Formats: sequence, C-alpha cells, structure tokens
Amino acid sequence: MMGLTPEETAVLLNNTNEDLWQETYAVAREIKQAIYGNRIVLFAPLYISSPCINDCLYCGFRHSNSQVKGKTLNWDQLEKEVQALVGKGHKRLIVVYGEHPVSNIDFMCKS
Ligand code: SF4
Repeated sequence: MMGLTPEETAVLLNNTNEDLWQETYAVAREIKQAIYGNRIVLFAPLYISSPCINDCLYCGFRHSNSQVKGKTLNWDQLEKEVQALVGKGHKRLIVVYGEHPVSNIDFMCKS
C-alpha cells in the first residue's frame, strides 16, 4: 500500500463534490481498518523545540506567552528523551516543534 503524494492530497482536499467526499471517507475507513483494525493506537509527544513565532491562543508555545521560556533540545538531550520514552515502552512518537527559524526544515530532518 502506498501513501498519497502531496499533489494527490491537495486534489482530494480541494474536492467540492459531496459524493466524492463520501467515497473518500469510505476508502479512508477501509484503509484505517486494514492497518489498525479496532485497536486504539497512542502516540507519545516528543517536544523537541518550543519557540514559536505564532500566537495561537490555546497554545502554551505561543509567542506572547511570557511565562514559558522557549527551549530547543540539543542532540544529547534529544537522545536521552527518546531513550526514556522507548524505555517506558512507547513504540510511536509524534515529534513537536514550534514554528520558528530555530526549528527549520533542516533541523527537523536532522532531528
Ligand atoms: S506551536 Fe503551533 S499551535 Fe502553538 S503557537 Fe505555534 S503554531 Fe500555534
């Protein structure tokens, strides 16, 4: 099974035909069922970098939140965090970054 390309995803998301949306939902359910069945799969968040230039009100990383000092893990800290999470039995991590030059695409790829 192959994933969608960014172009294919963009075409799907820009669909305005309700019948095609229903067909998309049905295929998505089929794929989800084939991969996960009825299991609930949890992901542990791994906060790698919190500085952010945006200001989403609900988010503690927001730029205007002066109570939180932004932090970006260095490679040693990142390795220790991953080892700690794996040591606790986590198999799936979701990496989290604020939107900021310190966590640009090169940093994300490397981390
Ligand atoms: S980290 Fe994400 S949700 Fe939080 S302020 Fe930045 S862009 Fe918004």
